[in-house]
Amino acid sequence: MSFRRKPRVSLKTPEQFGVMRRAGLLLARIHDEIEDRLREGMTTADIDQISRGIIDGAGARSNFLGYHGFPATVCVSVNEEIVHGIPGTRVIREGDVVSVDAGCIVGGWHSDAARTHIVGRAKSDADRELVDVTHEAMWEGIAALAKATRVGEIGAAIEDYVAERAGERIQHLEEFGGHGIGRAMHEPPDVMNFRTRDRGPKIMPGMALCIEPMLIQNDGEFEILDDDWTVVATKGGRAAHFEHSVAVTESGIFVLSAVDGGKAELEKRGIEVAQEPSDSHTATGR
Ligand code: MG
Repeated sequence: MSFRRKPRVSLKTPEQFGVMRRAGLLLARIHDEIEDRLREGMTTADIDQISRGIIDGAGARSNFLGYHGFPATVCVSVNEEIVHGIPGTRVIREGDVVSVDAGCIVGGWHSDAARTHIVGRAKSDADRELVDVTHEAMWEGIAALAKATRVGEIGAAIEDYVAERAGERIQHLEEFGGHGIGRAMHEPPDVMNFRTRDRGPKIMPGMALCIEPMLIQNDGEFEILDDDWTVVATKGGRAAHFEHSVAVTESGIFVLSAVDGGKAELEKRGIEVAQEPSDSHTATGR
């Protein structure tokens, strides 16, 4: 028995990344469809229905549904809700900040990604800034992974970017962060959104990591509602959340849940993405 032992980080083969790529592409379709159809007047349950329809139609499975009893295939978190909102009767209004966290399983391999939308016209420049900074912070974290030697450098890059862009206006939450992904949705290691003393494990080919800044206006005070899921800000600030599942291959990184593999955003940051993983030699199936 050793309580000092670090949790083991699972390494994937190129073929396994190929299956994870299929899960990532299906998830990108789910997010694109939700983005196209999101309107004021919809309920958060309507967003879940879009995701369910695509997962069922593809013969895939949901990794959110039933996760520790979670009742839906997506988390939808509106305005003061930060993460883990349960889809239901809440009606989306113009100017709402709507975070959608979604995932799916293809061939036994998981994908997990999130986007935040402002519905119609933003209520304030601060809301626009929040969503933009969170989106850019995710890509800064992904870009850091491409050059990092330790996982901890991702969080350092996210923290530095947010501080430089938004100072005290936007904060990270220490309690929530990214993770490894593979045969399970949540695997070691933790991927923090800020700098810590622990530099984390060495980056190695075969790692798959979810990088997901969750940022909040004002301070980071929150509570969890009686539903035991929904995390809400208690000081009136809005929250935003972006996430991608990213593979570390022998020849660089590839963003599994982005249709272009992350090419457009990473090239802006001077990084060439790896070749698209393929599972053409692997049997398919659920
Ligand atoms: Mg995640």
